[in-house]
Amino acid sequence: GHAVFDAAQQKQAVHQLALLSDLRQCIARNELVLHYQPKVDLGTRKISGVEALLRWNHPVHGLLLPGTFMPEVERTELIAPVTRWVLDEALRQQRLWSDEGVDLTMAVNISAGSLGRSSNLPDIVAELTETWGTQPDRLILELTEGALVEASAPDVLARLHNMGERMSIDDFGTGYSSLAYLQRLPVDEIKIDKSFITRLAAVSDDAVIVRSTIDLAHNLSMTVVAEGVEDAGAMDMLVGYGCDSAQGYLFNRPCAPEQLTAWLTERPAGRWESALA
Ligand code: C2E
Ligand code: MG
Ligand code: MG
Repeated sequence: GHAVFDAAQQKQAVHQLALLSDLRQCIARNELVLHYQPKVDLGTRKISGVEALLRWNHPVHGLLLPGTFMPEVERTELIAPVTRWVLDEALRQQRLWSDEGVDLTMAVNISAGSLGRSSNLPDIVAELTETWGTQPDRLILELTEGALVEASAPDVLARLHNMGERMSIDDFGTGYSSLAYLQRLPVDEIKIDKSFITRLAAVSDDAVIVRSTIDLAHNLSMTVVAEGVEDAGAMDMLVGYGCDSAQGYLFNRPCAPEQLTAWLTERPAGRWESALA
């Protein structure tokens, strides 16, 4: 076949290449940062934990969201050092909070590539949780459905499970796996994808899906987190459906650790309602 030269595409390719060469140095240059988004327990209305979300503080382009660089990272061998850096930094921050008397679970996103046949993820998790004195059940590994159906994932998951780590299925509902299949894996929690949650109050089909997913997950002894809760209407519906926890702009956007510390210090009870008052 043939392709017609497209200047815009060329520019994009060059930009990606430049970004990739910068990426190789981002860890050494200390340019990666983690932001944290609270997860609210819908029973107690308290913040039970946070999710660590990666950002790249690029010297020219500013603060980049993971969507702009993680696909490149995941395509290359860079995924190993980036995953290690994220785990190390997240557990370090969790230790800082815990030393200040703030006990929060820490959820970390893990790419499919980190679960492959030669995965040393369990070794890295064992080493870093020991370094930072993390209780196994205070770390939650968020894996997508795609990662979970990877051929060798069950071995890696079984090792992590035996170490006492908690596992969560991220973006649930966007893949093709059934809960029946996933239930055979050592998974403790599902996170319903934000595409179902942001329109919850407006789209009745989404409400049916969310409600039955929560029931099914509970019957399979899994807890449920709703991500992408943006309005009080959605939150009220989730409370009505018995959803365990929620995360979203309604409560807090992902923010730098100092901001979250300040936010928590101002609200010793840790209840999010006071934030809206
Ligand atoms: P995710 O794990 O599903 O994270 C949730 C995403 O939804 C975050 O986007 C968060 O900022 C956004 N979000 C939170 N609340 C709301 C809301 O109320 N409404 C809407 N519309 N969005 C909301 P972000 O930070 O851009 O991250 C995107 C994805 O990048 C993550 O999706 C995760 O898959 C990936 N990612 C982030 N950090 C890491 C990391 O350290 N390692 C790996 N492998 N992937 C990461
Ligand atoms: Mg996640
Ligand atoms: Mg998600």
